[in-house]
Amino acid sequence: MTLHTLGLLGGMTYHSTVDYYLGINDAIAARRGGHNSAPLLVDSLNFAAVREYQTADDWEGAGRLLADHALALQAAGAEAIVICTNLMHKVAPAVAARLDVPLLHITDAIAFEAEARGLRSLGSLGTKWVMQEGFYTDALIRSGIQPVFAGDDDIATTDRIVFEELTKGIIADASRDELVGVVDRLAKAGADGVILGCTEIPLLMHQHDTVVPLVDSTQAHVALAVKFVMGEI
Ligand code: GLU
Repeated sequence: MTLHTLGLLGGMTYHSTVDYYLGINDAIAARRGGHNSAPLLVDSLNFAAVREYQTADDWEGAGRLLADHALALQAAGAEAIVICTNLMHKVAPAVAARLDVPLLHITDAIAFEAEARGLRSLGSLGTKWVMQEGFYTDALIRSGIQPVFAGDDDIATTDRIVFEELTKGIIADASRDELVGVVDRLAKAGADGVILGCTEIPLLMHQHDTVVPLVDSTQAHVALAVKFVMGEI
């Protein structure tokens, strides 16, 4: 069967878009064999422009920007769109509303993985918006997941590590230790597991850093993308 073409809205940031590109291609090569790889259209945005909308709290503007890029991918032949970041799913409804093709939502991908692993209550590590806002947690609740929220200090620490380090490609051992502390406190507050809900956090922190089960949002999203390319969803 022909593989389906996927449009990746990337560059948010490029440090993690590469993991989508490699992960999807590696999975298709492993499953199809030979010289098979994924038919992908990659649009890598300049993250500085996206970050300006975030810091200005202009989510309408950000939604227009991402929707324009998603439409260009659709016009170029993408049969579904993947937004390669957790945070920018804050504007997913504005993007989806302008598309004829489906948007493969990151929280659906996370919910599939959590269900497969029997994880029912989950904390999240990510930007301050992901860690506390409804666009992310309500989507998880609709999938049957009970969110566990971090305290204000832990949200501020995680957001700082994301934007002062990880999105600039800086990997620091001290920050890994800080995130392990946040994960421990989420587990103590009742989380069965913790979502690495920022696509750059898996560059810093891995399952072997903690006994608390981690759900890697990038890998969960890649798995959903692979199902689409294979024609399984
Ligand atoms: N990649 C990050 C995320 O998954 C943050 C960068 C951004 O999109 O603002 O939320």
